[in-house]
Amino acid sequence: MNLKNHSILTWLLLVIFSQSVFSQKSPKNVIFLIGDGMGLAQIYSGMMANRNHLELERCTYSGFSKTYSADNFTTDSGAGGTALACGVKTKNHMIGMNPDSIAVQSILEEASKNKLATGIVVSCALTHATPASYIAHQVNREMNEEIASDYLKTDIDVFIGGGRKYFEDRTDSRNLTKELKAKNYQIVYKLDDVKAIKSGKLAGLLYEDQNPGMPERASMLPDATQSALNILSNNKKGFFLMVEGSQIDWGGHNNNSTQVIKEMLDFDQTIGKALDFAKQDGNTLVIITADHETGGMSITEGKVGTDQMKILFSTKNHSGIPVPIFAYGPGAENFTGFMENISFKAKIERLLKLKK
Ligand code: MG
Ligand code: ZN
Repeated sequence: MNLKNHSILTWLLLVIFSQSVFSQKSPKNVIFLIGDGMGLAQIYSGMMANRNHLELERCTYSGFSKTYSADNFTTDSGAGGTALACGVKTKNHMIGMNPDSIAVQSILEEASKNKLATGIVVSCALTHATPASYIAHQVNREMNEEIASDYLKTDIDVFIGGGRKYFEDRTDSRNLTKELKAKNYQIVYKLDDVKAIKSGKLAGLLYEDQNPGMPERASMLPDATQSALNILSNNKKGFFLMVEGSQIDWGGHNNNSTQVIKEMLDFDQTIGKALDFAKQDGNTLVIITADHETGGMSITEGKVGTDQMKILFSTKNHSGIPVPIFAYGPGAENFTGFMENISFKAKIERLLKLKK
């Protein structure tokens, strides 16, 4: 090959290389939505009952997540949440720790250290296993007061949910609300007050203990998610927001398909808010998955596009089957096929270019 051909070849290779590098789109923001106990039957029953449509159908990529924990074929929400948040398989009931009880940094904590804005919005107590996995490090999910205290150890910008008593009416003498105020948090107790806040740090302690179910909770989850997006998107460096539809799981434990469907549709409304934001923003990756399936739910018969379905449950507990993943926005193509539940963290780390 002569010199001229060689330089043309080099130039061509450079063009191909740079195109492959620059075509890998990176998001600025990530919204991670967890439907607790949300398997395919929970999704499909909601879709049928909602005239054969869900907002999550707008997602362009999908896959499956393997949910087993370090010590059990069938995970709980502690080990399931810890896998999604911290990227480690741990023992059931543990929060933000590996099986040797050593704390592992969550993706939310890492995003916060990298100066991204961060938030948690849930339809249960803020100390419950799933949100706890993103913010706390405790050997047992039942340690509600210790988990509440762990919110003070972070720089999380927005958290909205229930569980006020674990912050204010504690067995030790601490009043965490006072301590949060000293850290410049705005503390609110009503959804209307959440909606009025447009910037700064916010702790929304909306219920004494667990949030009520649907329809009593009304638009709490989608509205609080919208408020969190409004506040977090003020940060020019980007944000990480975790949102949980917490009570799909409770419908599964109760073997109550009506409850599952109501909670599924509330979560889907919330997914719609996230997808609307991402569509308009253009730099936001939305990921939707579950920590596990609950109830071993199946649908054997039905009438398409209606709530007339024969729905069966095979357990009052969780099942061990994989759960679906849906993704939308820049980087969504990374969340396809069969994934381990521990691989979300590293993928988000890489996409958001976070330093450990
Ligand atoms: Mg949960
Ligand atoms: Zn459960």
